[in-house]
Amino acid sequence: MQEVLKECLREGELAQQWRAVETAETLEAMMAAAWVLARALVLLLMSQVLEARAAEPVSWPDCKVCGKRLRSKGWVTRQWRGVIGRVEWRRRVGRCPSGCRIRQVAPLDQALGLEAYASTSMVVQEMACLLAVLMPFELGPLRVGATHERCAQCEQRVALGTGIRA
Ligand SMILES: [Zn+2]
Repeated sequence: MQEVLKECLREGELAQQWRAVETAETLEAMMAAAWVLARALVLLLMSQVLEARAAEPVSWPDCKVCGKRLRSKGWVTRQWRGVIGRVEWRRRVGRCPSGCRIRQVAPLDQALGLEAYASTSMVVQEMACLLAVLMPFELGPLRVGATHERCAQCEQRVALGTGIRA
């Protein structure tokens, strides 16, 4: 593990972040660069874990319409944003061999507790909601973000928060 890490820091994806730590002049700048590096490292490790899980044999479920066992239609990339950042991995997706009109199924997503097409952690959405409600009214224009637009609950909370301040 240590050798892998050293390799990553020397020549791999994290080399640039590591150089930023090494060349930071102030302790404050070094800590900030180290934070960026730590985040990138954790996301890299997570993507490796996800890659390993995706390589395991898949137990395909039956089609909910016709009952036939679903078949793999190949590998598709998936992204998801959590509190640390965005992870990306590839996993197998399956469809009905009879062509039933069902959504593609990704058993790994289900095993990971991901809802179909969910791209952002509920924790991140809730944090965005809290931020939107608790942020000073003067910073209101900053409250409208991409995450908020997708979250109906958030819209309600923002409306509630605005109502309290009105
Ligand atoms: Zn079917």
